[in-house]
Amino acid sequence: MNLAEAILIMGPVWQIYAALLVFAFGACLGSFLNVCIHRIPREESVIRPRSHCPSCGALIHWHDNIPLLSYLALRARCRKCSIRISPRYFLVELLVAGLFVLVWLKYGPDGTARVLGLAPVNSLSLVVVYWLAVFGLVLGTFVDFEHMIIPDRVTIGGMISGILISTLFPVLHNQAAFYGGLGSSFIGALVGFGILWLIAILGKLVFRKDAMGFGDVKLMGAVGAYLGWIAVLFTLMISSFLGAIVGISLVAAGKREMQSRIPYGPYIALAALVWILWGPTIWNAYLDFLIPPVEALP
Ligand SMILES: [Zn+2]
Repeated sequence: MNLAEAILIMGPVWQIYAALLVFAFGACLGSFLNVCIHRIPREESVIRPRSHCPSCGALIHWHDNIPLLSYLALRARCRKCSIRISPRYFLVELLVAGLFVLVWLKYGPDGTARVLGLAPVNSLSLVVVYWLAVFGLVLGTFVDFEHMIIPDRVTIGGMISGILISTLFPVLHNQAAFYGGLGSSFIGALVGFGILWLIAILGKLVFRKDAMGFGDVKLMGAVGAYLGWIAVLFTLMISSFLGAIVGISLVAAGKREMQSRIPYGPYIALAALVWILWGPTIWNAYLDFLIPPVEALP
């Protein structure tokens, strides 16, 4: 067997091995994310003290703190006091691990990503930046579900870090020069923040109460800073659509009043994740649908 044959055989094995490693890495970060979701809204440090049971206060040993596996081994109960551990812990670890693998398969060394239908972009810097975006979006989502707020570390932190990272990695906006990345990111943040701010102001005028939280305005600014202004339009469309469907279903099922506030942050986050994974493909199909492409002459 020569080297070329060996690579051909080892290729798929290496790809599966790499995806498994990424899954394990994502599950570990998901585990850390659970700590952030619990502690950041309570303004506690995410580093100290070590993880402990919120009910009996017992320290959690490392072998009871293995992502995904410990939850199953302990059957969702604290070893000391047997109180039930929320399924959120397992769900977040699985979600982050799965999303990390999807980003890896798309933008990693063997990825198939195309930015807005242009050349394939396989870049490790894109993988890392999108992992960071996944982390922030999942964090914002679960804190918003529980506390009806999105932490400033996610929203303002997202706008600032998005502009800095876009300057360092202009490939994020399909740009070559640092000022291209900086400009695209700045315009994205401005469009995202501006549109939602306008909607918030108009909503207040029409409904005479806060129709949209300011956290959502800042979150859309962060989405624009990382993903650009087209992603903002896409996110706005998809998130309003999803939000309307869920909102109307909840009202129809009698679970909510028409007036009650529904967190919008999770829909922004979900739509932004859809953009990262499949957005440009969907966007191009949508544009082709609006303006059918002219058939090339023979
Ligand atoms: Zn306990």
